[in-house]
Amino acid sequence: MTLLASVLGTSLLGTVEPVAKPGTDLRWSRFLAATAAEGPGLRSALWVQGCSVHCPGCFNPQLWAEVGGTVENTTQLAERFVADAVSAGVEGITLLGGEPFDQADALGSVAEAFRAAGLTVMTFSGYPLDLLTGWSTTRPDIARLLAATDLLVDGPYLRDRPDAVRPWLGSTNQGIRALTPAYADEVARIELEGGLDRLEIRIRPDGQIDVNGWADDAALEELLHDLGPRQDRPRTKARLA
Ligand code: SF4
Repeated sequence: MTLLASVLGTSLLGTVEPVAKPGTDLRWSRFLAATAAEGPGLRSALWVQGCSVHCPGCFNPQLWAEVGGTVENTTQLAERFVADAVSAGVEGITLLGGEPFDQADALGSVAEAFRAAGLTVMTFSGYPLDLLTGWSTTRPDIARLLAATDLLVDGPYLRDRPDAVRPWLGSTNQGIRALTPAYADEVARIELEGGLDRLEIRIRPDGQIDVNGWADDAALEELLHDLGPRQDRPRTKARLA
């Protein structure tokens, strides 16, 4: 358990308002132009670097540090990623990490660029929606990213409450919220029927293995046994990022 979690206790995870950052640059870790494993339909996915929530058991602790990754001008990055997304024929982008609302202004700008191209935006956050909404009254950066998000998965990952029913969510305390009509029917269907997770594995020409998506721990270990070194690890039911 991290020092922060030890001090706050898991019930207080995600309750500390993030520090506002300038939106001119974004610190990010990974971008996929097209994936079917990170939200509804075929989507681009952008993993940001940096998370101040620190959920014990998080499967992406390498994305907590606010160092590393790539720091890049937000406008230039958004133009390039939108072009890649349009070329790939996706319906939207998923913002995850890391914690998107720790870089809310920069990601608000990226999300707006995708919206302007007619694409949808899904955002994962370790902060609960009611707190984000409250903070947004005095935080234009948080309000900006919320306003540009169609589908939000919110709340910290609690490893003792795994969610085996709803796709993409790590634990049962988390919510899946349609903030616009774009995915209202999808959310209603998921809350009624649940859904299946997906896992994607990419093997590069040099043998490097990239994995993204969701699986339970047992299935993941069985699948990846002896595959060799991986550059990234997937989102599993044992975590949410
Ligand atoms: S699960 Fe998400 S919010 Fe929680 S520590 Fe990991 S990256 Fe941060």
